[in-house]
Amino acid sequence: MPELRKDPITDRWVIISTDRVRRPSDFVRETTPVRPSGRFCPFCPGNESKTPPEVLAYRDGSGANQPGWSLRVFPNKFPVLGIEGDLEREGEGMFDKMQGIGAHEVVVETPEHVLSITELAEKSIERVLWAFRDRVNDLKNDKRLRYILLFKNEGEAAGATLEHTHSQLIALPVVPKRVQEEVEGAKNYYDFKERCMFCDLIRQEAKSGERVVIETDRFIVLEPYAARFPFETWILPKQHKSHYEDTGSQQLENLAWVLKSTLRKLEKVLERPPYNFLIHTAPLQEAANPYFHWHIEVIPKLTRVAGFEWGTGFYINPTPPEESAQFLREAGLG
Ligand code: ZN
Ligand code: ZN
Repeated sequence: MPELRKDPITDRWVIISTDRVRRPSDFVRETTPVRPSGRFCPFCPGNESKTPPEVLAYRDGSGANQPGWSLRVFPNKFPVLGIEGDLEREGEGMFDKMQGIGAHEVVVETPEHVLSITELAEKSIERVLWAFRDRVNDLKNDKRLRYILLFKNEGEAAGATLEHTHSQLIALPVVPKRVQEEVEGAKNYYDFKERCMFCDLIRQEAKSGERVVIETDRFIVLEPYAARFPFETWILPKQHKSHYEDTGSQQLENLAWVLKSTLRKLEKVLERPPYNFLIHTAPLQEAANPYFHWHIEVIPKLTRVAGFEWGTGFYINPTPPEESAQFLREAGLG
């Protein structure tokens, strides 16, 4: 019998298949390319003039928008939201609207033209994690912005349009519904138990080990109990923090290793799947709180969301998280 599982954070139900379980080899899909296509790349050093001017770069001595950087951040050339103007929130009868104010930035993770973040040295990945922190701290000063999503689309099927490895951030003038649900779920739990739900989750999962993929002194990687998608993987810091930008340097150093190892395992088991990863952090303008716990969600694109999912918001996951955890645990890091 399939199992219905309730996500303890959002109360969302998921159907987990138990009889027609799909294993890594059952997913038919495109793998992401391994070799560069040779097409012109606006993200490579020397082509800085082909992108909007940078808002952040880590470089040794060279001037802005010149080669010599190790990481570079600039506004997206085709932003989904614009930074100029006022929100002008207004009503139109029963409808609400506001101007599309926000920020949309690209983080070019390395000057090398490589296709995957897992090809980078841990030091370079750590720089990416620092850049996320620096950009959030800067954008936080803009009080119109209420939420920042840091994310990565890997592979065309996951939405990547340029092959040179990069991540993105979108800052929004509202808190997204999905985040709000998580924050509210966590707050309700805290009000009731006076403990952080994610801290409880980490303790319980570490003890059982069934869904754990990697555990270090500072982080735990696990397949969530009510995973919506096959091989959905979460990375949680063991130290309680509501906001990603409050993460310290030792944590970021360890996270670089943990993130790379997690993605390497997924690449190995699923043969370089397209995927998205996103950082869920507490809303931007809110003070640190004891109930929300920032974390990373990695979602390989293996299945298509179909009518039933769209109609109900209810997911069907053909791979039980206990099985995907085992596949990932057994995959080496090589
Ligand atoms: Zn390039
Ligand atoms: Zn916590």
